[in-house]
Amino acid sequence: MPVNAPLANLETGVMFWANREPAEVLAELHGLGVRCGQLGLPGELDLSCANAWKAALRAADFTVYTVFAGFIGESYADIPTVTDTVGFMPRRYRVEREQRTLAVSDFARVIGASSVGLHIGCVPDDDTDEDYVAVREMVRRVADHVAKNGQSLALETGQEPAEALLSFIIDVNRDNLGINFDPANMILYGTGDPIEALGVLGQHVMSVHCKDGDWPPADQPGALGTERALGSGAVGIERYLQALKHIGYKGPLAVEREAEDPEQRLIDIRTGIALLERVKQSL
Ligand code: MG
Repeated sequence: MPVNAPLANLETGVMFWANREPAEVLAELHGLGVRCGQLGLPGELDLSCANAWKAALRAADFTVYTVFAGFIGESYADIPTVTDTVGFMPRRYRVEREQRTLAVSDFARVIGASSVGLHIGCVPDDDTDEDYVAVREMVRRVADHVAKNGQSLALETGQEPAEALLSFIIDVNRDNLGINFDPANMILYGTGDPIEALGVLGQHVMSVHCKDGDWPPADQPGALGTERALGSGAVGIERYLQALKHIGYKGPLAVEREAEDPEQRLIDIRTGIALLERVKQSL
């Protein structure tokens, strides 16, 4: 049986999590009709399961092209909480999260994934700020480690405007550093129109999420917008795929859905996959 068979241009995949036994998760993905995706590792997951994932992926002939690092202590309740808890920005977590990210890269090497992804958190605008400098150095060390594993490092969009992320990436100055573009996050965090952002970030986009959502309520400062099923939010999937085509993106399209109810999540992912297939035919 072929392993890691080449993917088609804009092949549809799914963003999923290692929150159950590998065979169970992969059977669900098989039922969705996809053969590739991005695997998120919850912060509390014991990473000694890498070989079990490798065997299950091989048996299912399923390609994981990105492994995402989640961290213990993260909360996405609202924007102040994200600032305080997510990614590399919170000082109290930096040492353990750097170590965890290196371990996630080693997990990704075992299963043959070519990229590591993460949210680094809300990076300050000021490049002389001591937290900015500390996180820049941290990202350099992580990028250098994942390079030794033959991988790229993809920063998820959304928690800062596109121009700020672009200048940060240029400042980090590592060839294997780029972006996992999530159009819904730009909307949920109110950081800018995702289609305009793609124009700014285009050449640095390594992988993408296909996620949808609505803008934050104007009368609740600090609130996040609401994530929606693909096609039901403010992204505009037709214009999103056209914009991806315009920047020359040919990688996979990972449907991401964060609904708490697992049954609803599965229904929405299935609908999202069908939507992408329809829109792709019209490109
Ligand atoms: Mg995402």
